Amino acid sequence: MSYQNPPPYSATQQQPGFTPASYYQPPPQQPLYPPMPQPPPQQSTVIIQTTTPAFVPIGSGPSHITCPSCHAQVLTTVKSEANTRTHCWALLLCLIGLWPCVCLPYCMDSCQNSNHYCPNCNAYIGTYQS
Ligand SMILES: [Zn+2]
Repeated sequence: MSYQNPPPYSATQQQPGFTPASYYQPPPQQPLYPPMPQPPPQQSTVIIQTTTPAFVPIGSGPSHITCPSCHAQVLTTVKSEANTRTHCWALLLCLIGLWPCVCLPYCMDSCQNSNHYCPNCNAYIGTYQS
């Protein structure tokens, strides 16, 4: 009768002299990139728009600005002007039956544009849209 011996375990077991540490290799040195002190110039995205008027920090009220026309430090003159939204509010008030309040949007500065003018040379500075 035939008797099959199981396969010797030595075939699957690791060699006695095998030490994983001997196969350990230090990770390759990453090439040291020199630190970039400044980002690469992105001149393509920096476009100075000279066609639009210079940005002036104006608000809904008179603002201290440097007039782009006469280059004087002035306090702007504000003139409220009805815009499309003002008329829309008036129309809306009419539609919902509050026609006595139609004049309200025209009296509220928050519903109108604030046009800033230079008191020195009467130049148009900008419009503040609330
Ligand atoms: Zn001016």
